[in-house]
Amino acid sequence: MNNIRNFSIIAHIDHGKSTLADRMIQLCNMVSAREFKDQLLDNMDIERERGITIKSQTICLPYTADDGKQYFLNLVDTPGHVDFSYEVSRALTSCEGALLLIDAAQGVEAQTLANLYLAMENDLEIIPVINKIDLPSADPETVALQIDEDLGLDSDLVQFCSAKVGTGVKDILEAIVKNLPPPEGDPDAPLQALIFDATYDPFRGTIISVRIINGTVRPGDIIRFMSNGKEYKVEETGLFKFEKEPQKKLTAGQVGYILAGIKTVEDTRPGDTITLKSNPCPEPLPGFREVQQVVFSSIYPISTDDYEDLAAALEKLKLNDAALTFEKDSSAALGFGFRCGFLGLLHLEVIQERLEREFDISLILTVPSVQYIFHLSDGSRKIVDNPAHFPDPAHIDKIEEPFIKATILIPEKYMGVVMTLCMDRRGENTSFHYPMPGRIEFQCELPLSEVIYDFYDRLKSVTQGYGSFDYEMLDHRKSDLVKLDILVNGEVVDALSQLVHRNNARARGLVACEVLKKEIPRQMFKIAIQAAIGGTIIARTNVSAMRKDVTAKCYGGISQENGNCLKSRKPEKKG
Ligand code: GDP
Ligand code: MG
Repeated sequence: MNNIRNFSIIAHIDHGKSTLADRMIQLCNMVSAREFKDQLLDNMDIERERGITIKSQTICLPYTADDGKQYFLNLVDTPGHVDFSYEVSRALTSCEGALLLIDAAQGVEAQTLANLYLAMENDLEIIPVINKIDLPSADPETVALQIDEDLGLDSDLVQFCSAKVGTGVKDILEAIVKNLPPPEGDPDAPLQALIFDATYDPFRGTIISVRIINGTVRPGDIIRFMSNGKEYKVEETGLFKFEKEPQKKLTAGQVGYILAGIKTVEDTRPGDTITLKSNPCPEPLPGFREVQQVVFSSIYPISTDDYEDLAAALEKLKLNDAALTFEKDSSAALGFGFRCGFLGLLHLEVIQERLEREFDISLILTVPSVQYIFHLSDGSRKIVDNPAHFPDPAHIDKIEEPFIKATILIPEKYMGVVMTLCMDRRGENTSFHYPMPGRIEFQCELPLSEVIYDFYDRLKSVTQGYGSFDYEMLDHRKSDLVKLDILVNGEVVDALSQLVHRNNARARGLVACEVLKKEIPRQMFKIAIQAAIGGTIIARTNVSAMRKDVTAKCYGGISQENGNCLKSRKPEKKG
Protein backbone atom coordinates (compact mmCIF):
# COMPACT_ATOMS: atom_id res chain seq x y z
CA MET A 1 0.00 0.00 0.00
CA ASN A 2 3.01 2.23 0.57
CA ASN A 3 3.46 2.69 -3.16
CA ILE A 4 -0.09 3.98 -3.74
CA ARG A 5 -1.18 7.64 -3.72
CA ASN A 6 -4.81 8.55 -4.28
CA PHE A 7 -5.33 12.18 -5.16
CA SER A 8 -7.61 14.57 -6.88
CA ILE A 9 -7.11 17.92 -8.56
CA ILE A 10 -9.43 20.63 -7.33
CA ALA A 11 -9.71 24.00 -8.96
CA HIS A 12 -11.98 26.74 -10.09
CA ILE A 13 -13.25 26.15 -13.61
CA ASP A 14 -10.66 27.01 -16.28
CA HIS A 15 -7.68 27.10 -13.94
CA GLY A 16 -6.15 24.21 -15.86
CA LYS A 17 -7.17 20.97 -14.20
CA SER A 18 -7.67 18.97 -17.39
CA THR A 19 -4.51 20.35 -18.95
CA LEU A 20 -2.42 19.38 -15.92
CA ALA A 21 -3.97 15.90 -15.95
CA ASP A 22 -2.96 15.57 -19.60
CA ARG A 23 0.62 16.53 -18.84
CA MET A 24 0.85 14.04 -15.99
CA ILE A 25 -0.53 11.29 -18.19
CA GLN A 26 2.10 12.10 -20.80
CA LEU A 27 4.93 12.27 -18.27
CA CYS A 28 4.03 8.82 -17.02
CA ASN A 29 4.19 7.53 -20.60
CA MET A 30 0.62 6.37 -20.47
CA VAL A 31 -0.13 7.14 -24.09
CA SER A 32 1.87 7.37 -27.27
CA ALA A 33 2.05 10.70 -29.06
CA ARG A 34 -0.16 9.22 -31.73
CA GLU A 35 -3.00 8.49 -29.35
CA PHE A 36 -2.70 11.77 -27.57
CA LYS A 37 -5.34 14.41 -27.87
CA ASP A 38 -5.94 17.24 -25.46
CA GLN A 39 -8.14 16.69 -22.44
CA LEU A 40 -7.80 12.96 -22.40
CA LEU A 41 -10.02 12.55 -19.42
CA ASP A 42 -12.87 14.55 -20.88
CA ASN A 43 -14.50 11.88 -22.98
CA MET A 44 -17.65 13.52 -24.19
CA ASP A 45 -17.56 15.96 -27.09
CA ILE A 46 -19.39 18.49 -24.98
CA GLU A 47 -16.77 18.25 -22.28
CA ARG A 48 -14.00 18.93 -24.75
CA GLU A 49 -15.74 21.80 -26.45
CA ARG A 50 -16.91 23.55 -23.37
CA GLY A 51 -13.76 22.67 -21.54
CA ILE A 52 -15.60 21.34 -18.54
CA THR A 53 -15.56 17.98 -16.89
CA ILE A 54 -18.99 16.52 -16.40
CA LYS A 55 -18.29 12.98 -15.33
CA SER A 56 -15.46 12.21 -13.02
CA GLN A 57 -12.75 10.03 -14.50
CA THR A 58 -9.99 8.09 -12.91
CA ILE A 59 -6.62 7.06 -14.15
CA CYS A 60 -3.88 5.05 -12.51
CA LEU A 61 -0.46 6.52 -13.34
CA PRO A 62 2.57 4.28 -12.90
CA TYR A 63 5.41 6.58 -11.89
CA THR A 64 9.02 5.82 -11.13
CA ALA A 65 10.10 8.46 -8.63
CA ASP A 66 13.53 9.94 -8.00
CA ASP A 67 13.97 7.47 -5.12
CA GLY A 68 14.00 4.73 -7.76
CA LYS A 69 10.79 3.13 -6.57
CA GLN A 70 7.71 2.59 -8.66
CA TYR A 71 4.48 4.21 -7.45
CA PHE A 72 0.88 4.03 -8.54
CA LEU A 73 -0.69 7.47 -8.53
CA ASN A 74 -4.46 7.29 -8.84
CA LEU A 75 -5.77 10.55 -10.23
CA VAL A 76 -9.47 10.95 -9.55
CA ASP A 77 -10.69 13.75 -11.79
CA THR A 78 -13.76 15.55 -10.50
CA PRO A 79 -16.49 17.54 -12.23
CA GLY A 80 -15.80 21.26 -12.12
CA HIS A 81 -19.22 22.79 -11.71
CA VAL A 82 -21.56 23.62 -8.82
CA ASP A 83 -24.26 21.35 -10.27
CA PHE A 84 -22.09 18.38 -9.47
CA SER A 85 -20.69 19.26 -6.06
CA TYR A 86 -22.05 16.07 -4.48
CA GLU A 87 -20.08 13.99 -7.01
CA VAL A 88 -17.02 16.06 -6.18
CA SER A 89 -17.42 15.36 -2.49
CA ARG A 90 -17.69 11.59 -3.12
CA ALA A 91 -14.65 11.59 -5.36
CA LEU A 92 -12.68 13.47 -2.69
CA THR A 93 -13.63 10.91 -0.07
CA SER A 94 -11.77 8.31 -2.10
CA CYS A 95 -8.50 10.26 -1.87
CA GLU A 96 -5.88 11.04 0.76
CA GLY A 97 -4.72 14.23 -0.86
CA ALA A 98 -5.52 16.91 -3.37
CA LEU A 99 -3.72 19.33 -5.61
CA LEU A 100 -5.33 22.73 -5.16
CA LEU A 101 -4.74 24.31 -8.53
CA ILE A 102 -4.84 28.09 -8.79
CA ASP A 103 -4.45 30.22 -11.90
CA ALA A 104 -1.46 32.53 -11.42
CA ALA A 105 -3.27 35.35 -13.18
CA GLN A 106 -6.70 34.95 -11.56
CA GLY A 107 -5.83 33.99 -8.01
CA VAL A 108 -8.32 32.41 -5.63
CA GLU A 109 -11.96 32.19 -6.83
CA ALA A 110 -15.27 31.05 -5.31
CA GLN A 111 -14.89 27.46 -6.37
CA THR A 112 -11.27 27.35 -5.27
CA LEU A 113 -12.55 28.09 -1.78
CA ALA A 114 -15.63 25.87 -2.00
CA ASN A 115 -13.49 22.95 -3.18
CA LEU A 116 -10.83 23.64 -0.61
CA TYR A 117 -13.45 23.53 2.16
CA LEU A 118 -14.75 20.23 0.77
CA ALA A 119 -11.22 18.84 0.74
CA MET A 120 -10.63 19.99 4.31
CA GLU A 121 -13.90 18.39 5.45
CA ASN A 122 -12.52 15.16 4.04
CA ASP A 123 -9.22 15.63 5.92
CA LEU A 124 -7.20 15.66 2.73
CA GLU A 125 -3.58 16.66 2.64
CA ILE A 126 -3.34 19.62 0.28
CA ILE A 127 -0.58 20.59 -2.11
CA PRO A 128 -1.17 24.09 -3.51
CA VAL A 129 -0.19 24.41 -7.18
CA ILE A 130 0.09 27.71 -8.96
CA ASN A 131 -0.55 27.15 -12.66
CA LYS A 132 -0.12 29.20 -15.82
CA ILE A 133 3.13 30.83 -14.72
CA ASP A 134 3.91 31.24 -18.43
CA LEU A 135 1.21 33.90 -18.81
CA PRO A 136 2.47 37.48 -19.10
CA SER A 137 -0.20 38.55 -16.60
CA ALA A 138 0.82 35.83 -14.13
CA ASP A 139 1.58 37.02 -10.62
CA PRO A 140 2.70 33.87 -8.81
CA GLU A 141 4.21 35.73 -5.82
CA THR A 142 0.91 37.40 -4.95
CA VAL A 143 -0.97 34.13 -5.35
CA ALA A 144 1.61 32.38 -3.17
CA LEU A 145 1.03 35.04 -0.54
CA GLN A 146 -2.75 34.49 -0.75
CA ILE A 147 -2.18 30.77 -0.24
CA ASP A 148 -0.04 31.38 2.80
CA GLU A 149 -1.87 34.24 4.49
CA ASP A 150 -5.45 33.90 3.35
CA LEU A 151 -5.94 30.20 2.90
CA GLY A 152 -3.58 29.29 5.72
CA LEU A 153 -1.91 26.54 3.71
CA ASP A 154 1.72 25.55 4.07
CA SER A 155 3.63 27.79 1.69
CA ASP A 156 6.62 25.44 1.71
CA LEU A 157 4.54 22.98 -0.24
CA VAL A 158 3.55 25.38 -3.02
CA GLN A 159 4.41 24.15 -6.52
CA PHE A 160 4.70 26.41 -9.54
CA CYS A 161 3.87 25.11 -12.96
CA SER A 162 2.72 25.72 -16.46
CA ALA A 163 0.50 22.83 -17.40
CA LYS A 164 0.40 24.14 -20.93
CA VAL A 165 4.14 24.22 -21.47
CA GLY A 166 4.95 21.38 -19.06
CA THR A 167 7.20 23.30 -16.63
CA GLY A 168 7.11 22.03 -13.06
CA VAL A 169 4.93 18.98 -13.70
CA LYS A 170 7.61 16.47 -12.74
CA ASP A 171 8.11 18.32 -9.43
CA ILE A 172 4.41 18.00 -8.76
CA LEU A 173 4.61 14.22 -9.19
CA GLU A 174 7.53 14.13 -6.77
CA ALA A 175 5.60 16.26 -4.29
CA ILE A 176 2.67 13.84 -4.50
CA VAL A 177 4.94 10.91 -3.65
CA LYS A 178 6.71 12.76 -0.83
CA ASN A 179 3.95 14.80 0.77
CA LEU A 180 0.74 12.85 0.36
CA PRO A 181 0.20 9.97 2.76
CA PRO A 182 -0.28 6.45 1.40
CA PRO A 183 -3.75 4.99 1.99
CA GLU A 184 -4.55 3.05 5.14
CA GLY A 185 -7.06 0.26 5.60
CA ASP A 186 -7.25 -3.40 6.50
CA PRO A 187 -7.29 -5.83 3.56
CA ASP A 188 -8.61 -8.60 5.82
CA ALA A 189 -11.52 -6.64 7.29
CA PRO A 190 -15.08 -7.02 5.90
CA LEU A 191 -15.34 -5.26 2.54
CA GLN A 192 -16.17 -1.55 2.50
CA ALA A 193 -15.91 -0.13 -1.01
CA LEU A 194 -17.00 3.42 -1.67
CA ILE A 195 -18.77 4.02 -4.99
CA PHE A 196 -17.75 7.38 -6.38
CA ASP A 197 -18.92 7.01 -9.95
CA ALA A 198 -20.72 4.68 -12.32
CA THR A 199 -20.79 4.62 -16.09
CA TYR A 200 -22.67 2.35 -18.42
CA ASP A 201 -20.99 0.30 -21.09
CA PRO A 202 -23.36 -1.42 -23.53
CA PHE A 203 -21.15 -4.53 -23.71
CA ARG A 204 -19.97 -4.90 -20.13
CA GLY A 205 -22.79 -3.33 -18.15
CA THR A 206 -22.23 -0.77 -15.41
CA ILE A 207 -18.61 0.04 -14.63
CA ILE A 208 -18.48 0.92 -10.95
CA SER A 209 -15.63 3.18 -9.85
CA VAL A 210 -14.68 2.35 -6.28
CA ARG A 211 -12.19 3.13 -3.60
CA ILE A 212 -11.64 0.10 -1.40
CA ILE A 213 -11.55 1.47 2.13
CA ASN A 214 -11.30 -1.90 3.88
CA GLY A 215 -11.30 -5.53 2.80
CA THR A 216 -10.75 -7.22 -0.55
CA VAL A 217 -13.00 -7.99 -3.50
CA ARG A 218 -12.42 -10.64 -6.16
CA PRO A 219 -14.20 -11.94 -9.25
CA GLY A 220 -16.81 -14.50 -8.16
CA ASP A 221 -17.68 -12.67 -4.92
CA ILE A 222 -21.30 -11.74 -4.30
CA ILE A 223 -21.41 -8.03 -3.54
CA ARG A 224 -24.22 -6.10 -1.89
CA PHE A 225 -25.08 -2.41 -2.25
CA MET A 226 -25.88 -1.25 1.25
CA SER A 227 -28.34 1.53 0.32
CA ASN A 228 -30.77 -0.72 -1.54
CA GLY A 229 -29.72 -4.29 -0.70
CA LYS A 230 -29.20 -5.22 -4.38
CA GLU A 231 -26.80 -8.14 -4.89
CA TYR A 232 -24.63 -9.03 -7.86
CA LYS A 233 -21.86 -11.47 -8.71
CA VAL A 234 -18.53 -9.81 -9.50
CA GLU A 235 -17.29 -10.64 -13.01
CA GLU A 236 -14.12 -8.59 -13.10
CA THR A 237 -12.06 -6.26 -10.94
CA GLY A 238 -9.30 -4.02 -12.22
CA LEU A 239 -7.43 -0.76 -12.45
CA PHE A 240 -8.04 2.25 -14.64
CA LYS A 241 -4.97 2.25 -16.81
CA PHE A 242 -5.41 3.93 -20.16
CA GLU A 243 -7.67 0.97 -20.86
CA LYS A 244 -9.30 -1.01 -18.08
CA GLU A 245 -6.75 -3.52 -16.83
CA PRO A 246 -8.16 -6.61 -15.10
CA GLN A 247 -6.61 -7.65 -11.75
CA LYS A 248 -7.13 -10.76 -9.62
CA LYS A 249 -8.44 -8.61 -6.79
CA LEU A 250 -8.88 -5.10 -5.47
CA THR A 251 -7.80 -4.53 -1.93
CA ALA A 252 -7.81 -1.86 0.79
CA GLY A 253 -6.30 1.42 -0.40
CA GLN A 254 -6.84 0.80 -4.10
CA VAL A 255 -8.96 2.74 -6.54
CA GLY A 256 -10.34 0.69 -9.41
CA TYR A 257 -13.42 -0.72 -11.07
CA ILE A 258 -15.84 -3.56 -10.53
CA LEU A 259 -17.91 -5.19 -13.27
CA ALA A 260 -20.85 -7.27 -12.13
CA GLY A 261 -23.21 -7.50 -15.10
CA ILE A 262 -25.34 -4.64 -13.81
CA LYS A 263 -27.80 -3.40 -16.40
CA THR A 264 -28.54 0.06 -15.02
CA VAL A 265 -26.62 2.79 -13.25
CA GLU A 266 -29.71 3.48 -11.15
CA ASP A 267 -28.76 0.76 -8.66
CA THR A 268 -25.22 2.06 -8.45
CA ARG A 269 -25.35 5.23 -6.43
CA PRO A 270 -22.36 7.42 -5.80
CA GLY A 271 -21.64 7.57 -2.10
CA ASP A 272 -23.08 4.10 -1.46
CA THR A 273 -21.03 1.34 0.18
CA ILE A 274 -20.43 -2.05 -1.42
CA THR A 275 -19.85 -4.98 0.91
CA LEU A 276 -19.73 -8.76 0.59
CA LYS A 277 -22.84 -10.87 1.09
CA SER A 278 -20.81 -13.57 2.84
CA ASN A 279 -19.09 -11.24 5.32
CA PRO A 280 -20.90 -7.91 5.39
CA CYS A 281 -19.52 -4.89 7.21
CA PRO A 282 -21.74 -3.68 10.06
CA GLU A 283 -22.03 -0.05 8.94
CA PRO A 284 -22.01 1.69 5.58
CA LEU A 285 -19.46 4.47 5.04
CA PRO A 286 -20.81 7.86 6.11
CA GLY A 287 -22.04 10.60 3.77
CA PHE A 288 -24.39 8.78 1.41
CA ARG A 289 -27.15 10.95 -0.05
CA GLU A 290 -29.78 10.37 -2.71
CA VAL A 291 -29.29 12.67 -5.69
CA GLN A 292 -31.76 15.47 -5.84
CA GLN A 293 -33.08 17.15 -8.95
CA VAL A 294 -33.59 20.88 -8.48
CA VAL A 295 -34.46 22.17 -11.95
CA PHE A 296 -37.26 20.85 -14.11
CA SER A 297 -38.24 21.42 -17.71
CA SER A 298 -40.44 19.70 -20.29
CA ILE A 299 -38.77 18.54 -23.46
CA TYR A 300 -40.86 18.16 -26.60
CA PRO A 301 -39.74 17.00 -30.03
CA ILE A 302 -40.36 19.66 -32.65
CA SER A 303 -41.62 17.01 -35.00
CA THR A 304 -44.16 14.68 -33.39
CA ASP A 305 -42.61 11.85 -35.44
CA ASP A 306 -39.55 12.11 -33.21
CA TYR A 307 -41.42 11.25 -30.03
CA GLU A 308 -40.36 7.59 -30.00
CA ASP A 309 -36.79 8.55 -30.79
CA LEU A 310 -36.78 11.05 -27.97
CA ALA A 311 -38.07 8.41 -25.58
CA ALA A 312 -35.35 5.99 -26.66
CA ALA A 313 -32.66 8.68 -26.44
CA LEU A 314 -33.67 9.63 -22.90
CA GLU A 315 -33.60 5.96 -21.88
CA LYS A 316 -30.10 5.72 -23.28
CA LEU A 317 -28.83 8.84 -21.54
CA LYS A 318 -30.40 7.66 -18.31
CA LEU A 319 -28.32 4.48 -18.49
CA ASN A 320 -25.27 6.61 -17.87
CA ASP A 321 -26.74 9.39 -15.83
CA ALA A 322 -28.63 8.36 -12.75
CA ALA A 323 -29.23 12.02 -11.90
CA LEU A 324 -31.52 12.55 -14.89
CA THR A 325 -35.20 11.83 -14.28
CA PHE A 326 -38.02 11.91 -16.79
CA GLU A 327 -41.67 11.03 -17.12
CA LYS A 328 -44.29 11.44 -19.84
CA ASP A 329 -45.80 14.87 -20.20
CA SER A 330 -48.22 16.40 -22.63
CA SER A 331 -49.25 19.87 -23.56
CA ALA A 332 -52.19 21.14 -25.60
CA ALA A 333 -49.79 23.35 -27.53
CA LEU A 334 -46.76 21.13 -27.88
CA GLY A 335 -48.13 17.59 -27.93
CA PHE A 336 -46.34 14.70 -26.21
CA GLY A 337 -43.02 15.07 -24.49
CA PHE A 338 -41.20 14.42 -21.23
CA ARG A 339 -40.97 16.24 -17.94
CA CYS A 340 -37.34 16.03 -16.94
CA GLY A 341 -35.48 16.73 -13.69
CA PHE A 342 -31.89 17.99 -13.57
CA LEU A 343 -29.19 18.74 -11.01
CA GLY A 344 -28.98 22.30 -12.26
CA LEU A 345 -28.99 24.42 -15.38
CA LEU A 346 -25.67 23.16 -16.70
CA HIS A 347 -26.92 19.61 -16.39
CA LEU A 348 -30.04 20.61 -18.33
CA GLU A 349 -27.97 22.19 -21.10
CA VAL A 350 -25.73 19.16 -21.34
CA ILE A 351 -28.70 16.82 -21.75
CA GLN A 352 -30.28 19.14 -24.30
CA GLU A 353 -27.08 19.29 -26.32
CA ARG A 354 -26.55 15.57 -26.23
CA LEU A 355 -30.11 14.93 -27.41
CA GLU A 356 -29.68 17.37 -30.25
CA ARG A 357 -26.23 16.27 -31.27
CA GLU A 358 -25.79 12.63 -30.48
CA PHE A 359 -29.37 11.73 -31.27
CA ASP A 360 -30.12 14.41 -33.83
CA ILE A 361 -33.51 15.39 -32.43
CA SER A 362 -34.74 18.99 -32.62
CA LEU A 363 -36.29 20.02 -29.36
CA ILE A 364 -38.46 22.53 -27.61
CA LEU A 365 -37.83 23.08 -23.91
CA THR A 366 -40.16 24.87 -21.57
CA VAL A 367 -38.91 27.53 -19.15
CA PRO A 368 -36.96 25.75 -16.40
CA SER A 369 -38.82 25.60 -13.12
CA VAL A 370 -37.97 24.73 -9.55
CA GLN A 371 -40.07 22.62 -7.20
CA TYR A 372 -42.72 24.54 -5.27
CA ILE A 373 -44.62 23.38 -2.22
CA PHE A 374 -48.29 24.32 -2.28
CA HIS A 375 -50.21 24.29 1.01
CA LEU A 376 -53.86 23.86 0.08
CA SER A 377 -56.90 25.05 1.96
CA ASP A 378 -57.96 21.45 2.76
CA GLY A 379 -54.73 21.13 4.76
CA SER A 380 -52.90 19.00 2.21
CA ARG A 381 -49.52 19.66 0.67
CA LYS A 382 -48.65 19.33 -2.97
CA ILE A 383 -45.17 19.47 -4.50
CA VAL A 384 -45.26 20.71 -8.07
CA ASP A 385 -42.55 21.55 -10.59
CA ASN A 386 -44.71 21.73 -13.69
CA PRO A 387 -46.70 24.92 -14.34
CA ALA A 388 -49.36 22.83 -16.05
CA HIS A 389 -50.11 21.16 -12.71
CA PHE A 390 -50.26 24.21 -10.48
CA PRO A 391 -53.32 24.02 -8.24
CA ASP A 392 -56.25 26.38 -8.60
CA PRO A 393 -55.26 29.66 -6.89
CA ALA A 394 -58.62 29.66 -5.09
CA HIS A 395 -57.51 26.61 -3.09
CA ILE A 396 -54.02 27.72 -2.18
CA ASP A 397 -53.24 28.79 1.38
CA LYS A 398 -49.58 29.50 0.83
CA ILE A 399 -46.75 28.67 -1.53
CA GLU A 400 -43.17 27.90 -0.54
CA GLU A 401 -40.20 28.04 -2.87
CA PRO A 402 -36.65 26.72 -2.53
CA PHE A 403 -33.91 29.06 -1.33
CA ILE A 404 -30.18 28.74 -1.76
CA LYS A 405 -27.18 30.21 -0.03
CA ALA A 406 -25.02 31.87 -2.65
CA THR A 407 -21.35 32.52 -2.09
CA ILE A 408 -20.00 35.15 -4.42
CA LEU A 409 -16.36 36.11 -4.56
CA ILE A 410 -15.55 39.49 -6.09
CA PRO A 411 -12.91 42.16 -6.21
CA GLU A 412 -13.93 44.88 -3.77
CA LYS A 413 -14.98 47.45 -6.32
CA TYR A 414 -17.88 45.33 -7.58
CA MET A 415 -19.55 45.12 -4.18
CA GLY A 416 -22.18 47.72 -5.07
CA VAL A 417 -23.33 46.22 -8.36
CA VAL A 418 -23.41 42.72 -6.96
CA MET A 419 -25.44 43.87 -3.97
CA THR A 420 -27.92 45.52 -6.35
CA LEU A 421 -28.11 42.40 -8.49
CA CYS A 422 -28.87 40.26 -5.44
CA MET A 423 -31.50 42.67 -4.15
CA ASP A 424 -33.16 42.68 -7.58
CA ARG A 425 -33.32 38.93 -7.29
CA ARG A 426 -35.00 39.07 -3.88
CA GLY A 427 -31.84 38.32 -1.92
CA GLU A 428 -32.03 38.27 1.89
CA ASN A 429 -29.70 37.99 4.89
CA THR A 430 -26.65 39.25 3.13
CA SER A 431 -23.29 39.17 4.83
CA PHE A 432 -19.73 39.59 3.72
CA HIS A 433 -16.18 39.37 4.82
CA TYR A 434 -12.69 39.80 3.40
CA PRO A 435 -11.08 36.39 2.94
CA MET A 436 -8.07 38.20 1.47
CA PRO A 437 -7.08 41.78 0.80
CA GLY A 438 -9.00 43.41 -2.03
CA ARG A 439 -11.51 40.57 -2.29
CA ILE A 440 -14.94 40.27 -0.82
CA GLU A 441 -16.73 37.05 -0.10
CA PHE A 442 -20.37 37.98 -0.27
CA GLN A 443 -23.05 35.63 0.99
CA CYS A 444 -26.69 35.97 0.28
CA GLU A 445 -29.85 33.87 0.52
CA LEU A 446 -31.76 33.82 -2.75
CA PRO A 447 -34.75 32.04 -4.23
CA LEU A 448 -33.43 29.29 -6.51
CA SER A 449 -35.88 30.36 -9.21
CA GLU A 450 -34.17 33.73 -9.43
CA VAL A 451 -30.80 32.07 -9.83
CA ILE A 452 -31.77 29.76 -12.66
CA TYR A 453 -33.05 32.78 -14.51
CA ASP A 454 -29.79 34.13 -16.05
CA PHE A 455 -28.26 35.07 -12.66
CA TYR A 456 -24.83 33.72 -13.43
CA ASP A 457 -24.66 35.50 -16.79
CA ARG A 458 -25.68 38.76 -15.12
CA LEU A 459 -23.11 38.31 -12.39
CA LYS A 460 -20.38 37.75 -14.94
CA SER A 461 -21.46 40.78 -16.88
CA VAL A 462 -21.71 43.24 -13.95
CA THR A 463 -18.34 42.12 -12.62
CA GLN A 464 -16.67 42.07 -16.01
CA GLY A 465 -16.02 38.38 -15.61
CA TYR A 466 -14.36 38.64 -12.19
CA GLY A 467 -17.24 37.45 -10.06
CA SER A 468 -17.36 33.81 -9.19
CA PHE A 469 -20.29 32.01 -7.74
CA ASP A 470 -21.13 28.88 -5.82
CA TYR A 471 -24.30 27.79 -4.08
CA GLU A 472 -25.87 25.25 -1.79
CA MET A 473 -29.54 24.43 -1.18
CA LEU A 474 -31.01 25.81 2.04
CA ASP A 475 -34.74 25.30 2.59
CA HIS A 476 -38.22 26.21 1.35
CA ARG A 477 -39.70 29.60 2.25
CA LYS A 478 -43.08 31.21 1.93
CA SER A 479 -43.35 33.60 -1.00
CA ASP A 480 -46.00 35.70 -2.65
CA LEU A 481 -46.06 33.85 -5.94
CA VAL A 482 -48.53 34.12 -8.76
CA LYS A 483 -49.04 32.09 -11.91
CA LEU A 484 -48.22 34.03 -15.02
CA ASP A 485 -50.05 32.80 -18.12
CA ILE A 486 -49.10 33.63 -21.67
CA LEU A 487 -51.89 33.99 -24.20
CA VAL A 488 -51.45 33.90 -27.93
CA ASN A 489 -54.46 35.32 -29.75
CA GLY A 490 -56.49 35.07 -26.59
CA GLU A 491 -55.67 31.43 -25.80
CA VAL A 492 -53.54 30.33 -22.88
CA VAL A 493 -50.51 28.33 -24.03
CA ASP A 494 -50.19 25.87 -21.17
CA ALA A 495 -46.51 25.13 -21.66
CA LEU A 496 -45.60 28.80 -21.31
CA SER A 497 -47.00 29.39 -17.86
CA GLN A 498 -44.58 30.13 -15.05
CA LEU A 499 -44.68 30.93 -11.36
CA VAL A 500 -43.27 34.37 -10.52
CA HIS A 501 -43.09 36.69 -7.58
CA ARG A 502 -45.99 39.15 -7.54
CA ASN A 503 -43.67 42.17 -7.62
CA ASN A 504 -41.82 40.91 -10.67
CA ALA A 505 -44.87 39.65 -12.52
CA ARG A 506 -45.32 42.62 -14.80
CA ALA A 507 -41.65 42.81 -15.76
CA ARG A 508 -41.43 39.07 -16.35
CA GLY A 509 -44.66 39.14 -18.34
CA LEU A 510 -43.31 41.83 -20.58
CA VAL A 511 -40.04 39.98 -21.13
CA ALA A 512 -41.92 36.78 -21.93
CA CYS A 513 -44.11 38.62 -24.47
CA GLU A 514 -41.13 40.28 -26.10
CA VAL A 515 -39.15 37.04 -26.34
CA LEU A 516 -42.11 35.29 -27.87
CA LYS A 517 -42.66 38.15 -30.27
CA LYS A 518 -39.14 37.74 -31.61
CA GLU A 519 -39.60 34.02 -31.97
CA ILE A 520 -42.88 34.05 -33.82
CA PRO A 521 -42.39 34.63 -37.53
CA ARG A 522 -44.60 37.29 -38.96
CA GLN A 523 -47.81 36.06 -40.44
CA MET A 524 -50.49 37.36 -42.78
CA PHE A 525 -52.49 38.47 -39.79
CA LYS A 526 -51.76 40.26 -36.57
CA ILE A 527 -50.99 38.10 -33.54
CA ALA A 528 -51.67 39.33 -30.03
CA ILE A 529 -49.38 38.09 -27.26
CA GLN A 530 -50.52 38.76 -23.71
CA ALA A 531 -49.38 37.96 -20.22
CA ALA A 532 -52.04 37.49 -17.58
CA ILE A 533 -52.46 36.72 -13.89
CA GLY A 534 -55.76 35.05 -13.18
CA GLY A 535 -57.88 36.66 -15.83
CA THR A 536 -56.15 40.04 -15.71
CA ILE A 537 -53.92 41.06 -18.57
CA ILE A 538 -50.74 42.65 -17.22
CA ALA A 539 -48.61 42.95 -20.37
CA ARG A 540 -49.17 42.71 -24.07
CA THR A 541 -47.50 43.02 -27.40
CA ASN A 542 -48.33 42.27 -31.02
CA VAL A 543 -46.62 40.56 -33.88
CA SER A 544 -47.68 42.85 -36.67
CA ALA A 545 -49.00 41.49 -39.90
CA MET A 546 -46.67 41.19 -42.84
CA ARG A 547 -46.85 43.38 -45.82
CA LYS A 548 -47.85 41.62 -49.00
CA ASP A 549 -44.47 41.69 -50.73
CA VAL A 550 -42.73 39.57 -48.14
CA THR A 551 -45.35 36.96 -47.52
CA ALA A 552 -44.46 34.70 -50.39
CA LYS A 553 -42.85 31.90 -48.39
CA CYS A 554 -44.75 31.72 -45.19
CA TYR A 555 -48.18 30.86 -44.37
CA GLY A 556 -50.02 29.02 -41.64
CA GLY A 557 -50.45 29.17 -37.93
CA ILE A 558 -47.67 29.72 -35.48
CA SER A 559 -44.76 27.73 -36.66
CA GLN A 560 -43.92 25.30 -33.90
CA GLU A 561 -40.36 25.45 -34.96
CA ASN A 562 -39.86 28.95 -33.75
CA GLY A 563 -42.98 29.65 -31.90
CA ASN A 564 -42.72 28.33 -28.42
CA CYS A 565 -39.27 28.04 -27.49
CA LEU A 566 -38.14 29.09 -24.70
CA LYS A 567 -34.67 27.98 -24.71
CA SER A 568 -32.60 26.57 -27.45
CA ARG A 569 -29.15 27.82 -27.09
CA LYS A 570 -26.47 26.60 -29.45
CA PRO A 571 -23.37 25.26 -27.77
CA GLU A 572 -20.80 27.92 -27.19
CA LYS A 573 -17.36 26.91 -28.26
CA LYS A 574 -14.70 27.69 -25.83
CA GLY A 575 -11.20 28.14 -26.79
P1 GDP B 1 -10.18 23.15 -16.28
O1 GDP B 1 -11.51 23.78 -16.48
O2 GDP B 1 -9.65 23.44 -14.91
O3 GDP B 1 -10.13 21.68 -16.63
O4 GDP B 1 -9.17 23.92 -17.24
P2 GDP B 1 -8.51 23.47 -18.62
O5 GDP B 1 -7.42 22.49 -18.40
O6 GDP B 1 -9.60 23.09 -19.56
O7 GDP B 1 -7.81 24.84 -19.04
C1 GDP B 1 -8.56 26.02 -19.27
C2 GDP B 1 -7.81 26.88 -20.26
O8 GDP B 1 -6.57 27.33 -19.72
C3 GDP B 1 -7.46 26.15 -21.55
O9 GDP B 1 -7.63 27.05 -22.62
C4 GDP B 1 -6.00 25.78 -21.37
O10 GDP B 1 -5.31 25.69 -22.60
C5 GDP B 1 -5.48 26.96 -20.57
N1 GDP B 1 -4.35 26.58 -19.73
C6 GDP B 1 -4.24 25.53 -18.89
N2 GDP B 1 -3.04 25.51 -18.30
C7 GDP B 1 -2.35 26.57 -18.79
C8 GDP B 1 -1.03 27.09 -18.56
O11 GDP B 1 -0.23 26.57 -17.79
N3 GDP B 1 -0.71 28.23 -19.24
C9 GDP B 1 -1.55 28.83 -20.10
N4 GDP B 1 -1.14 29.94 -20.72
N5 GDP B 1 -2.79 28.37 -20.33
C10 GDP B 1 -3.19 27.26 -19.69
MG1 MG C 1 -11.54 20.38 -17.30
